[in-house]
Amino acid sequence: MIKLNRDTKPAILVNNEKSWTTNLVDAVTNFGEYSKIPKEQKEKLLVHYRHQEIKNVLFQSSLQKCAFCETKPGESGNIEVEHFAPKSIYPELAFKWENFLPACRKCNGSKDDHDTLNNPIINPYDTNPEEIFHYNDIQIAANDAHEEIGKLTIRVCGLNSVRLMKPRADILVSLHSFSQALDEAIRDYEEAATDIKKQHRKRKIREAVEAIEVLANPSEKFSGFCKEYLKKCAAYHEAKSIVGE
Ligand SMILES: [Zn+2]
Repeated sequence: MIKLNRDTKPAILVNNEKSWTTNLVDAVTNFGEYSKIPKEQKEKLLVHYRHQEIKNVLFQSSLQKCAFCETKPGESGNIEVEHFAPKSIYPELAFKWENFLPACRKCNGSKDDHDTLNNPIINPYDTNPEEIFHYNDIQIAANDAHEEIGKLTIRVCGLNSVRLMKPRADILVSLHSFSQALDEAIRDYEEAATDIKKQHRKRKIREAVEAIEVLANPSEKFSGFCKEYLKKCAAYHEAKSIVGE
């Protein structure tokens, strides 16, 4: 999970939020409760939140990834417009821009109708996940200072499920192998006998640094996991100081 920034509310929502919300809330009142609204009617009332204009702006703000698990579409099902506070409990928030979040089908399904207002979990648009979580090997874990909300978020979204640990393990192999390549490049650089050779080998280090940094780019899947690996990687920091960045 990485920190995300909310974009400006799309015009379609600015113009229709009020009437869409009123219609839904009226239906809840008429039928007594949300779950009693007939399926077809409920779908007609809700369909607007999946408007393409809303999806475009929302999905762009998460770089086309799931806001919770950082997978890309196709890996964990399509990205969907998810309601952070569930619309079944809070229909008055069904068309509120700040309540939307792009989430994959797996996270969305796992979170289901968890009541985030009474039992809060981390919303990466509001809180920097780097302050809440760290990684132990291929598992995400909560920092001591935020243990309760961190653990609940992991459990509710299923952030340590096999579907996420497996790809993290694959990336970890890549990261270790890039790190070994950096170690070798640094050794070659230190052993270079002439200035020309040193310059040439410094270039090799720079290339190796760029290769490993690609994995931590925010647009890449699991970039938070990769970023933390780099933060702790001694070879990476040594290489950065050699290339003077
Ligand atoms: Zn997800």
